[in-house]
Amino acid sequence: MRIRRLSTFFWATCIVVFILILYVMTDLSFKLPSIKPAMVELDDNKWSSFESKLRHIENELNQHHVMVGEIKDTMDQIAEQSQEYHPPQKRPKKLFKEGKQKDYKVVGDEPPRMHIKFNMSTCPIQQTKSKTDVQMLSMYESITFEDRDGGVWKQGWNIEYKDNQWSQKNKLKVFIVPHSHNDPGWIKTFENYYKAQTKAIFTNMVEKLPEGKGRKFIWAETSYLSLWWNSDATEKEKATFQNLLKSGQIEIVTGGWVMNDEANSHWLGIVQQLTTGHQWLIDNLGYIPKNAWAIDPFGHSSAQPYLLKLTGFENSIIQRVHYRVKKELALNRQLEFKWRQLWDGSGATDMFTHMMPFYSYDVPHSCGPDPKICCQFDFKRLPGNGITCPWGVAPRKIIPKNVEERAGLILDQWRKKAQLYRSNVLLFPLGDDFRYDRSNEWDNQYQNYDMLIDFINANDDWNAEVQFGTLNDYFKALHEEVKMSDFPVLSGDFFTYADRNQHYWSGYYTSRPFYKSMDRVLLSYVRAAEIITSQAVSSRSVTYIVSLQLRDRVEQARRALALFQHHDAVAGTARDDVMLDYANKMLTAIKYCQSAIQQAAYYLLKQPPIQDQTQEDIYFDVDDIWRKNNELPTRITIALDVMSPSRRLVFYNALVFRRHEVVTVLVSTPHVEVFDPDGNPMMAQISPVVAGERRLGFVSNKFQLSFPVTIDPLALTTYTVSLRDSMSINKYTSYSRVRIYNADYWTVDLPKMFAIDQPTARLSNDVTIQAGNSSRVLATMNGLVKAIVSPDGRTTPVHMDFVQYDTQKGQDNNSGAYLFIPDGPAQPLKTDAFPEIVITEGPYKATLYSALISPKNAEIILAVSVYNNPSLPQSEVEICNTLLIDPQVDDLELAMRFSTNINNGDVFYTDVNGMQMIKRRYMEKLPLQANFYPLPAAAYIEDGSTRFTVLTSTPLGMAALQPGQIEVMQDRRLSRDDNRGMNQGVLDNVRTRHTFKIIVENANNPCPPPLSAGSGQLSLGAHVSQQQQLQPLLALHYTANENEPRPAYSRALYGAADLVLAAFPSHVSAESKDGKILHGMGITFQRVHLDTCYGNRAINKWYPVGEGQFQLSDLVDVPAERVLRGSLSHSRAGPPAPAALALCPMEVRSLFLNVTLQH
Ligand SMILES: [Zn+2]
Repeated sequence: MRIRRLSTFFWATCIVVFILILYVMTDLSFKLPSIKPAMVELDDNKWSSFESKLRHIENELNQHHVMVGEIKDTMDQIAEQSQEYHPPQKRPKKLFKEGKQKDYKVVGDEPPRMHIKFNMSTCPIQQTKSKTDVQMLSMYESITFEDRDGGVWKQGWNIEYKDNQWSQKNKLKVFIVPHSHNDPGWIKTFENYYKAQTKAIFTNMVEKLPEGKGRKFIWAETSYLSLWWNSDATEKEKATFQNLLKSGQIEIVTGGWVMNDEANSHWLGIVQQLTTGHQWLIDNLGYIPKNAWAIDPFGHSSAQPYLLKLTGFENSIIQRVHYRVKKELALNRQLEFKWRQLWDGSGATDMFTHMMPFYSYDVPHSCGPDPKICCQFDFKRLPGNGITCPWGVAPRKIIPKNVEERAGLILDQWRKKAQLYRSNVLLFPLGDDFRYDRSNEWDNQYQNYDMLIDFINANDDWNAEVQFGTLNDYFKALHEEVKMSDFPVLSGDFFTYADRNQHYWSGYYTSRPFYKSMDRVLLSYVRAAEIITSQAVSSRSVTYIVSLQLRDRVEQARRALALFQHHDAVAGTARDDVMLDYANKMLTAIKYCQSAIQQAAYYLLKQPPIQDQTQEDIYFDVDDIWRKNNELPTRITIALDVMSPSRRLVFYNALVFRRHEVVTVLVSTPHVEVFDPDGNPMMAQISPVVAGERRLGFVSNKFQLSFPVTIDPLALTTYTVSLRDSMSINKYTSYSRVRIYNADYWTVDLPKMFAIDQPTARLSNDVTIQAGNSSRVLATMNGLVKAIVSPDGRTTPVHMDFVQYDTQKGQDNNSGAYLFIPDGPAQPLKTDAFPEIVITEGPYKATLYSALISPKNAEIILAVSVYNNPSLPQSEVEICNTLLIDPQVDDLELAMRFSTNINNGDVFYTDVNGMQMIKRRYMEKLPLQANFYPLPAAAYIEDGSTRFTVLTSTPLGMAALQPGQIEVMQDRRLSRDDNRGMNQGVLDNVRTRHTFKIIVENANNPCPPPLSAGSGQLSLGAHVSQQQQLQPLLALHYTANENEPRPAYSRALYGAADLVLAAFPSHVSAESKDGKILHGMGITFQRVHLDTCYGNRAINKWYPVGEGQFQLSDLVDVPAERVLRGSLSHSRAGPPAPAALALCPMEVRSLFLNVTLQH
């Protein structure tokens, strides 16, 4: 017996040595064909000969691998049989690999690392020379928010002017700008609006505009234009449209796919929607918009002007701003200003902005201060057209007999409006929602205004010059008259919007949160699909045909995401059926992305390229299953048995820095083990799956498998999950300890390896959870977080609560999809005593589940988790709320509240579209609802020693109503309409899940002084967590087989943690300086500016920050001279740009890679 064992051991050792040699050879030989597959100008013959050589080598290697695999299997069997003598060949690794990156590099040799010398002091963020005239937070602090009756201009004052203000040399120049505001979905779906109204607007446009040379029109929404162009426009109509565009009679303004929401949208989503619109325009019309037009988003963000600036816009128009702010700016003639980023001390980011002064963008509130008069000049409202003037005086047709009186009347309004601005150039928008759909409206507006224009222009004494115009006409005349330096500088943003009374539009920050969360999921998919597609295309892993197919699928998905950025879509302010229509489109888009991602991943892993690629090929299953458009997604359960004993998991990291995370997948059996990409067994944790909608329970035959992974930037890395012999000694797998409280009726049926503690007594004390060396959470007997103990032992009280609001129920005074009008402060959400609580704890992950049931109010399954992740040694806790407001309740808004002893006074910070942080203050003088702000991604409060940060997976509303507090809305159910046109309440609530990360950080001394009074920055740790939350690791599953791809793909990227790869589309068009249309790839980077005061400095070791430097050649093979300056939507190409990037903090830089992709 003993001899047999010894000889087994001997042979096993021999085989091990043999395998090791083979492995070394294999690894080396992978590097042999170091062919650089340049994308352009590669001699095809040379390429194919290389290719065939490569294929030959690959075939040999594959055979080699099969053999190695067989030997290894035999070896494993032998090793298993001789367990007691045979130590494991490879030690389980430490949690995460540290030190030098493993070289999986496939193509090209690593370029020498260069450090670009650049002078940081030239960055806008470093400068202080330029001052701001209007700072919005300061204005909020100084003004009183009284709502005095201003007379005909209710929210303003009685405007007066002197007749001699104008002369023959100094005329009032009026530009009448006809427009039609077309929501891509609101009361009707996008397609139904198109069929019912928008199609006719285009048809009439090309018929009616040519009737007069002076006739002008502006158009904003490219989604509609493209639908008409591609489905209904005749060749003749297209030609006419093109001519009108060339002659300047039509101007396309902004030209995004939609007019995006500015509160909930993520800036990366806004970039996608601008790109979608602009790429369509350049491809189909050769057109690039110059002036922006955002008249309906419900409040305006300070990220938007920066994005417009980066896109190349020259001027911009906004409208929905708090009436009191409008009045203040109007009083000081500051409605036209240079909108500057909070952190910019140089003026480099200035975007010239015109703010409309009155209540609305409709005609009654656009010609001047008196809506009763202006309404008479909306000739759609001529009697008999089905729409009237609510002020009781109808328009009159202009005829020679009344033209003098009528012209005098409107000129008086124009002159009054001009008093609010610094120039004698006046903008008068002439339009409304879905206007100009009937041919007689075109006749009525243009013909009547022609009469007025002719009369006024002929009447020299009136010193006025009136014409139809576009925004371009208006701004050109304005800038000719007033120097840019004569306009004030403004910084800050315009939230929270109120249009009248105390009607603050802070409800829509939270309305329809299920779909808001779906928006972020889709955003992460579109980005991942776009980036991995570009990687596959640029590395020549795909055939040309497949590259186009991938592009088309990504483009389809991008359009669904772009559509949802519309200000009634992600805002949650469309009717129920329209929301479902958006959700259907997003669901399809997620599937398109998953299809593209798994294919691109396979092509990258499979070298040389496989020739018979087709669009339908499914190589991997993406571990995120979306079945319905209003149902939470599920995960794949990896089913392992003797027939199918092992599964491969390919992780894709779509970030440009290396990430270290604890991942969790579901497996069908607790007897599993995990192997890293090199085949080393890894430590892993198995926990039972806790689920349930109202009551908790263990799911049978399903377990969580958690283990740490390290994935390089933009890399694919394969781990293996295998069935383990349940009888063999278990060295690498830990089973969670399980505690169950208040679960009186449960019979727990879990495999015996889980240590179960189920006290019979009710839980009456605090409980704690911890995973290995993670932060420790102290929770109340309800499972709510009470305090966080950092890995180094510091305790910070953080009290978590749920609260609820009811609505005022007055006539025209209640909460609805847009408005939040609570009837008073929040009340605690009363939940059943002794909720069911389950705690699972192991070396990597610990979770506390609590079923918080509040009968007739809401039910929340709370999951509080901590992870043992040494790369983020900060006090970080994940909170996952799966919630449903009771369908029987009429009006309820549910919020989660954290209370700390942080001494922040009334100051707090929120993010702006996930792009930057802005300082805000709680203001007692404002009503509760005015103190709610958008929370697209992050918020924090701080004092001299501690900072408390909340990151959110879903854009929601937030407030900081008391010192030390952060409150985040979760969902809202409202039975009434709030009179903003939607004509319904919000009653379509579905079970929704939000994931938050809360982080406690201590200050390091000394803290550098704050950069500017109005902005803030996340710490490195919070930024890393936020990026990982926004762009989760993608897990792709496949069954191990003999023809499997390489275990990893990466290029030796040295991306720093403060760099964000914002966009990387594989096929874009751009116009060069000399007017040529070029085709190639686009790429956009952002360098964030991080706070260096708070947080554990050890994080820097794991997530090094660079100096905004990036070698483009690390990512893509492109000749240096083909790297050109680009614009954010990639439709402009400038002069050559350095391929070695050095970005200023807060800089966003776009490049156009002038490479043709034809094979
Ligand atoms: Zn709208």
